[in-house]
Amino acid sequence: MHRFDELTERIARVVYAYTDARLRLDPVPLDRTVDPATLAALAPDPIGPAGNDPEAVMATFERVLAPAVISCDSPRFLAFIPAAPTKASLLFDMVVSASSLSGVSWLEAAGAVHAENQALRFLADLVGLPRDAGGCFVPGGSAANLSALAVARDTARRSGAPTGRRLRVVVGEQAHASIANALRLLDLEPLVVAAPDDRLDGAAVAAALDADGDAASVCAVAATAGTTNAGIVDDLAGVAEVCARHRLWMHVDAAYGGAALLAPSARPRFAGIERADSVVIDPHKWLFAPFDCAALLYRDPALARATHTQDASYLDVIHDEPGVWNPSDLAHHLTRRARGLPLWFSLAVHGTDAYRDAIERVLATARAAAARVAAAPHLELVREPELSIVLFRRRGWAGPDYDAWARRLLDEQVAFVAPSRWHGEPVARLAFLHPGTTIEIVDEVLASTRAG
Ligand SMILES: *Cc1c(COP(=O)(O)O)cnc(C)c1O
Repeated sequence: MHRFDELTERIARVVYAYTDARLRLDPVPLDRTVDPATLAALAPDPIGPAGNDPEAVMATFERVLAPAVISCDSPRFLAFIPAAPTKASLLFDMVVSASSLSGVSWLEAAGAVHAENQALRFLADLVGLPRDAGGCFVPGGSAANLSALAVARDTARRSGAPTGRRLRVVVGEQAHASIANALRLLDLEPLVVAAPDDRLDGAAVAAALDADGDAASVCAVAATAGTTNAGIVDDLAGVAEVCARHRLWMHVDAAYGGAALLAPSARPRFAGIERADSVVIDPHKWLFAPFDCAALLYRDPALARATHTQDASYLDVIHDEPGVWNPSDLAHHLTRRARGLPLWFSLAVHGTDAYRDAIERVLATARAAAARVAAAPHLELVREPELSIVLFRRRGWAGPDYDAWARRLLDEQVAFVAPSRWHGEPVARLAFLHPGTTIEIVDEVLASTRAG
């Protein structure tokens, strides 16, 4: 299994052929998922004491399993948060795999960590963090939020936060579900602040703290720069003011929206993000990197080390060198794939202007889609999109109508959409992220709302 023998030769041939063909798909077809009984019948379990022909196993993957996945990198995938990895990043992901690149510590992986740090530096500069800011790549925004909030909590405890009771974190009503999960796991309590126009702002946070009888137990504010449901960017400058005044950790969850820092037409919305103590940006979303890649940045990485460094005698050797960078010390992880490298490679090959242009193209598509909705008498825009998510109503429709519409679009392979809710009311939601999503696709999707 570990030699490049005749069997490996055959495996390599089918794998190279598949990956070559998959990478050349343009556009990637949408496909659809199937029910468990169908898959059980078409793809019986091949795992047993004896092996199978690689051609046969690969054929099952190619003909049955791969088409039973809705391709999130199709330009017709407009549900949840889509993906649109560059070909360069996908190809370099194969290099990372083929090289078993680990990115635990400088001792083991200086070259990989050095390159990952260049990609992190690019992101820290976009945010406007100081030179000695830094962080690491983790598998997703959820993991990044958890690691960052752990540091926020421990930093407050170390600097004299009241002991013997739960600390609290201010969150907006539109914060991502992973923030609530992280708080629960960390035994922190959310202080949910309702904000005018669903945008957490400094005045609302200040008023909530003033009205609260126990503001001393609040240790952080978790703001969102690009809510997942509606693409709303909180008033980060106002939040930063309040955090400075009350000496609170400012965390910014920009998992989806952070990429728009690159777009001149959206950059002003993020004013104040440069004052954050921790920031999360998911390159596997709108920075066109493959799964799974989230960037976690700290203003002061030493605070992260104090929380996350794992203390074990067999690890002492990685910590002995002063001044070296160990990604494993900066989040809740140890063994880690050097998952920042595909982003690093693609940025280096294409240049950041190409990223800026691709992100602007997506923003323009979202604005054009919103204009189409506003102009259609049977449709109603829920709010002007700030980034690339468009929420709208179809007059006369209730929840089941939106669901039937989504099913119809997928059946006809026009688009994958997932209806959402806005203040409890069912609405249609289009999430744009793929630069290849054309206004013609948008028109097809909107035309399909006339029926029903
Ligand atoms: C997607 C998202 C997350 C979660 O990120 P994962 O990479 O899916 O774990 C967190 N916050 C926001 C705002 C998001 O859009």
